[in-house]
Amino acid sequence: MGSRVSEYEKAISSIVERKYEDKRVFSVQWHITDHCNLACKHCYSSNNSIRDLPLNVLKAIFDKYLKAILKWGVEGYLSLTGGEAILRSDFFELLDFIHARWEEHPVFVVSLMSNGTLIDEERVSHLKEYLPMLSHVQISLDGVNEETHDFLRGEGSFSRSKKGFSLLREGGFTTALHYVVHKGNYRDAFNILELGDELKVIRVTLSRLVPEGGGKTLEMLAPSELRDLWDYLGSRCLDYYPKGVFLARGRCDLWHLPDIASALYSLKLNSQGNAFPALYRVGQRCPVGLNGLAVDTDGTVYPCRRLPISVGNIVQDTFFKIWYSSRLLWKFRHKEEYMKGKCRDCPFLTDTQLRTLCAGGSPCISYGNCGDCFEPDPQCWFDPYSEEQREEVEKWRKRILE
Ligand code: SF4
Ligand code: SF4
Repeated sequence: MGSRVSEYEKAISSIVERKYEDKRVFSVQWHITDHCNLACKHCYSSNNSIRDLPLNVLKAIFDKYLKAILKWGVEGYLSLTGGEAILRSDFFELLDFIHARWEEHPVFVVSLMSNGTLIDEERVSHLKEYLPMLSHVQISLDGVNEETHDFLRGEGSFSRSKKGFSLLREGGFTTALHYVVHKGNYRDAFNILELGDELKVIRVTLSRLVPEGGGKTLEMLAPSELRDLWDYLGSRCLDYYPKGVFLARGRCDLWHLPDIASALYSLKLNSQGNAFPALYRVGQRCPVGLNGLAVDTDGTVYPCRRLPISVGNIVQDTFFKIWYSSRLLWKFRHKEEYMKGKCRDCPFLTDTQLRTLCAGGSPCISYGNCGDCFEPDPQCWFDPYSEEQREEVEKWRKRILE
């Protein structure tokens, strides 16, 4: 671990310091249609019903979002998705509406989350009209080759998604790659950075499979498999940053556990106001209840799309009301009081600094696994009762944070 720290220090010292603007954001992942051209085995929308709302209702929902971010004085990150969002016949009318609002209030950016298979020249040229409001397009892949990917997403989808990446890139868009890892595509996940490099994406995000919806048909990784993957990718990501491929480690995925020293180092630099480590940060706690919500196709609001527990419906409610009246969101903001089992005795929950890295792991995975978001993450391999592991954390904590 010592050499990892020095590699990490070296990489950071080569980066030009930019002052970190402490931006507060409110993000919404918005599912605007249930229609999809694929039928992926692991899709979280496991039923076939179509619950699309009419365009005038979508416009009213967007205005509620804009009103909320203006009132709170925060920046908006809106991710449009589905189903396959561009399958809505009025998709571009909705974008026209959002864009007109953006011209008046440029306080938000929009991204598109897509399977990439329907991206063609005509759509790319239409999407370009929304630059720079449309900040990037994220495409999901489930393997680094046809065999693994098409097994889940259907024949021919791998090559069509790859074509989508290149058309978008040629059209001037930045692209990001999202990959959900499980037993069936575990081996491929070790080569995901090479694929990101080939596709020239700016970000590779790995998520763990959530055993919900279609995800229940696939097998989750054992904690030790996950640790090996995170450890390997953590050691490689420094090589890929100079090539422009950023491995999104700053998310809710136990990234910090195999690499505690780097996690604490990035935590320290982040708190000192450096822009780069904020992006480079090795793991963060699940942010549900802290900076965003997900809106499903029928307006149902979830803490996160991977955590399907309704906290309201945005057709009837406002973001303000849902945000402040949901007991569940309130409990997520106080996980130190509500987590159960081994997390209660874990420094990643009890210590106020370390809590920003974990605080119980991923509630979506606990919920999918046992129906209780406040049970410890079943893929966490940290043992708070092990003297050796606690000492390791304490050693780095003293060296780096104090
Ligand atoms: S025991 Fe709980 S708080 Fe500790 S690292 Fe694991 S999931 Fe996080
Ligand atoms: S519920 Fe939390 S851990 Fe799970 S995907 Fe959402 S933000 Fe991440």
